[in-house]
Amino acid sequence: MIICKTTHILKQTIAKAKNKDIIGFVPTMGALHQGHLTLINESKQKATLTVCSIFVNPTQFNDKKDFEKYPITLEQDIFLLAQAGCDILFLPHVQEVYPDGLQKLSYYPLDYLEEILEGKYRKGHFQGVCNVVEKLLKMVEPSILFLGQKDYQQCMVITKLVQLMQWNNKLQINIVPTIRETSGLAMSSRNARLSDTAKQQATAIYTALQFIQNNIKHTPIALLVEQASKILLDAGFEKIDYVSICRADNLLPVEVYQPTENYVALIAAFINNVRLIDNLLLSNNR
Ligand code: AMP
Repeated sequence: MIICKTTHILKQTIAKAKNKDIIGFVPTMGALHQGHLTLINESKQKATLTVCSIFVNPTQFNDKKDFEKYPITLEQDIFLLAQAGCDILFLPHVQEVYPDGLQKLSYYPLDYLEEILEGKYRKGHFQGVCNVVEKLLKMVEPSILFLGQKDYQQCMVITKLVQLMQWNNKLQINIVPTIRETSGLAMSSRNARLSDTAKQQATAIYTALQFIQNNIKHTPIALLVEQASKILLDAGFEKIDYVSICRADNLLPVEVYQPTENYVALIAAFINNVRLIDNLLLSNNR
């Protein structure tokens, strides 16, 4: 695996690579786990050259403390990526990604997508995501971008970004299902900040999502949300940002269940002062 720290070297390395016909790209913020490695494996199968980036993007953190506490395990990440057969790791410094500083950001018209759910509770988060992803896409110029369903709304925002960039014809987006611990807890870099007890309690997110999945056909939506919220609070979650049931294709909220529609349930809640998110497609059991 070749490690590149500057855009110049990255571009040169890609240009020189023999297998660059189909470039697969996996952007990450590091502290890698099996979820990230599944994205790398997907890329290994579908692309001829796999590029991963590790960059903890300061502009997408609305909470400074969350940024400061973000776990960093670089040596282990490099080991895991090399073992997984990643071809190129891009490890840029902040000045490399934001040469004009962190204040000069582009604005993306994301419409209601940045007013709801994560957008509502993390002001400016998706603008930060779009800023970094556009820059990284222009540096790597991949054919396939690999994203995790774990960040459901982010997948939609990045799909919108790719349309805004007018790259829809040259970039395919491949969404990989959420990888979970055997307990049901969705793998996340932030899980490293949980105590063993909190990790056990946090499995209630998946229990609540499954509860919604099992009961949506015969329970009014408002009652379902109330009961799922109770599962979280009873398990020890301190605060709930949202428990929401939305249309899977556009994330608009659902008032009445229609058997012909596809839905997704999404949760964001705090345990041990750590904010966790998860979601479950209700129709096809993902
Ligand atoms: P992050 O490092 O958290 O920015 O995540 C980098 C990529 O990995 C994003 O596309 C995430 O959606 C994806 N990802 C994170 N956790 C998981 C998981 N448990 N299963 C599948 N993909 C994941």
